[in-house]
Amino acid sequence: MAQPAFDSAYARLPDRFFARVTPTPVKAPRLIRVNAPLAAELGIDPDWLASEEGVAVLAGNRVPDTATPIATAYAGHQFGGFVPQLGDGRAILLGEVIDRGGTRRDVQLKGAGPTPYSRRGDGRAALGPVLREYLVSEAMQALGIPTTRALAAVTTGERVVRETMLPGAVLTRVASSHIRVGTFQFFASRGDVEGVRTLADHVIARHYPHAAEAEHPHRALLEAVVQAQAELVARWLLVGFVHGVMNTDNTSVAGETIDYGPCAFLDEYDPQAVFSSIDLYRRYAYGNQPAIAQWNLTRLAECLLPLLGDDADAAAEDAVQVLEAFGPAFERAYQGGLRRKLGLSTERPGDAALAEELLQAMAANLADFTLTFRGLSEAAADEEADAHVRSLFNDPGAYDAWAPRWRHRLGEEPGDAAARREAMLAVNPAFIPRNHRIEAVIRAAVDRNDFAPFEELLTVLARPFDSQPAFARYMEPPAAHERVHQTFCGT
Ligand code: AMP
Ligand code: MG
Repeated sequence: MAQPAFDSAYARLPDRFFARVTPTPVKAPRLIRVNAPLAAELGIDPDWLASEEGVAVLAGNRVPDTATPIATAYAGHQFGGFVPQLGDGRAILLGEVIDRGGTRRDVQLKGAGPTPYSRRGDGRAALGPVLREYLVSEAMQALGIPTTRALAAVTTGERVVRETMLPGAVLTRVASSHIRVGTFQFFASRGDVEGVRTLADHVIARHYPHAAEAEHPHRALLEAVVQAQAELVARWLLVGFVHGVMNTDNTSVAGETIDYGPCAFLDEYDPQAVFSSIDLYRRYAYGNQPAIAQWNLTRLAECLLPLLGDDADAAAEDAVQVLEAFGPAFERAYQGGLRRKLGLSTERPGDAALAEELLQAMAANLADFTLTFRGLSEAAADEEADAHVRSLFNDPGAYDAWAPRWRHRLGEEPGDAAARREAMLAVNPAFIPRNHRIEAVIRAAVDRNDFAPFEELLTVLARPFDSQPAFARYMEPPAAHERVHQTFCGT
């Protein structure tokens, strides 16, 4: 293993796809952390990354010989309003590496200084949002949810101006690509059909090679993205994740969770939950996420229309047909996931209603989402564990009313109780990145230059399905005074 050897297919696309840029050096880079397993996966030596030379690269003070740093152009609908020009305003793509599995991965510095797309921004990132993205993206990975990754984080020794002066940092983000629905919109909104075609063919080659073999490759591309987004959002709901800014520029065509800004995990189950300080109309509430994903995919379909056929009406009909597959694909993934969370390995007609009744009782009684399902995993094998689960409901009677029907249904399942418990513990995490824990990590790092809480929380979140009794306190929801009501964008 050695220094990264970049090979950048995106930088070989036409000039109008990106701007060539150089990261702006920072005063005093200091390593916070290297993600050694991820580095190894990418064929990069983690010790080199942590060396003085490596840290200089992670801070943007030195550009590796094989890198071709660029800022990519994109547009996007932000909270429903179209912005024709966004682009990487505080992120610089160093290049792509081919990982050990043969997959092409982007390596990007987030917070590496201004680019032609920075508009009024400074191109920098504050330490708090960098730690938040590192923690939550790696937690998502451990939960088995497609996501961008965090390869490293460094502090810059400089301050950034936000509401207050804050320590600056750079996150090195790895993604299977950073191509967004908004990247397609950038070309489509300019009437640049050739740009859309070039991008579509690049995405097919990179993410969905099977689509190239289809009778209608661009239709197959749309189908594949619809499928990937439906499955992704279902997985979000199944762990109580609220993305917070599902703008089309934050929607990856590869189906990864991307752009962790004001995201949060639910404590008590509330389908209306919104955390983002800027989501005034609750557009991106927990329970709205499937509908919003479909809305975003419809924007993608609009971009692809000229590629779907010469007859505009037929192309539109085609697109509608593909988009209509979102609902069933989402339901399949979501209901299948709920059944597994309830310990059901078979499918019976009343299952969706059984799950829905539990969720309604949880919402009405402010039951903690994660603890309820984790508790059910124990209760599936041992009725005495009911005492804990029912205590999570404001009115424990609401659980008592539901549980007998669940037990009756479990009685129709094959397999023994111990195996069921194991299967449930493997899908119902004990540990999620709870907001109050992330806040405490950020406070320690920003106010006291203490990164020990960050390291400890990362360690716990790396094994979300293991009981880890020594860290049981990390399972707990916030006390009243610890509660975080709002989360903020990194901007
Ligand atoms: P986001 O809300 O993080 O998805 O960012 C939306 C757009 O604003 C993207 O084009 C970002 O590159 C840009 N942006 C966000 N923060 C900054 C910043 N500090 N400097 C320059 N551009 C930024
Ligand atoms: Mg973004």
